[in-house]
Amino acid sequence: MFNHNISRRTGRIAAFFLTLFVLLGIPSGCVVNGGKSAPVHLSGVVWGTAYNITYIPTPDVSLEQATAAITEALDAVDTVANAFNPSSEISVFNRVGYLYTPSASFVELIERSKLFNKYSYGAFEPTLAPLVDLWGFGASSKEQECPDNKAIAAAMTKVGLDKIQTTPDGTIKVLTPGVRLDFGAIAKGYGVDKVAAALTRLGIKDYIVEIGGEVRVGGQSPRGDKWAIQIDAPIPDTTGTHTRMAVLTLCEAAVATSGNYRNFRTNSSGQQVYHTISPVTGRPATSDILSATVIASRTADADALATACMVLGLKQASTMITTLTKDPEIGIYGAIFITADKEGHYTLHPVSINTRHATLSD
Ligand code: AMP
Ligand code: MG
Repeated sequence: MFNHNISRRTGRIAAFFLTLFVLLGIPSGCVVNGGKSAPVHLSGVVWGTAYNITYIPTPDVSLEQATAAITEALDAVDTVANAFNPSSEISVFNRVGYLYTPSASFVELIERSKLFNKYSYGAFEPTLAPLVDLWGFGASSKEQECPDNKAIAAAMTKVGLDKIQTTPDGTIKVLTPGVRLDFGAIAKGYGVDKVAAALTRLGIKDYIVEIGGEVRVGGQSPRGDKWAIQIDAPIPDTTGTHTRMAVLTLCEAAVATSGNYRNFRTNSSGQQVYHTISPVTGRPATSDILSATVIASRTADADALATACMVLGLKQASTMITTLTKDPEIGIYGAIFITADKEGHYTLHPVSINTRHATLSD
């Protein structure tokens, strides 16, 4: 069975249990508000994190068809982008340094990565794999207390998307030996987009798809109104407890949240080591943002930017988001950042939210 863990080391042996986790599948014909059928909820574990999917079924799509389409979509992303799956494309690329015939999805991930690396002033950097490994969060991580300056400097020489080239014949190759990819900051969002597309292809218009906190909604909720999600307080916790800070009501939008409060480890000196790495320092990013939520048309883009915001900090991240929202072609609908003062009181910072796609309330 595949190991579907993309970004979280803790769940490395987690597998994909979609078919075992069908919590509620009310047959079609059961009608609720607005003439809609009762929703179907699917949940389980993928890539070491939880996923939850709710959709309103249509009469001509069976639960088995929908489940098969979702499984196929997630498997397809796994075989492309999961560095914890040794036979995936990213794993092969990381081992040999090139792909002669990359899949369309691999090419798309590279292209989106280059774009969002540029938009984020380099803060989103998927070639950080050697450093992600060094700090103990990667597919090739060995137990490591705290890497020394020499090891960090050596790993930094292998970082940079400009060290990966696509040749005219379509080959993708590294220009510097040892350059490796980590799609952990974009692949969950990309997976959400692929599941949403699979549901749309089946004719399912009303859905909410969530993988590890990255979300996309289409159509309406079972109550016939807009889908709404909760923004959690960034309380340091690895047990998955959720405390509400705000509610985000969405219309045809995707949302991704990054934060170090759920993915960190504590070294022997008692220091917390965070999984978001600064491409400038090669060390865990310690900005003033505790949680970054980005709203966009595509979940992959929101995912990449949310990670970048954690690196950039409030001032630069706000500038970046405001700039990107000005060009509607890019499809960024705003962001919400959470910071804390010295007493530990949280402040919510909404930035350039496009109210056609999202509204924030208590
Ligand atoms: P996310 O949870 O989406 O913020 O992604 C965090 C994961 O992306 C980490 O666990 C690393 O695998 C990887 N990562 C860490 N720092 C960066 C960065 N600056 N740019 C891109 N990927 C990163
Ligand atoms: Mg991300």
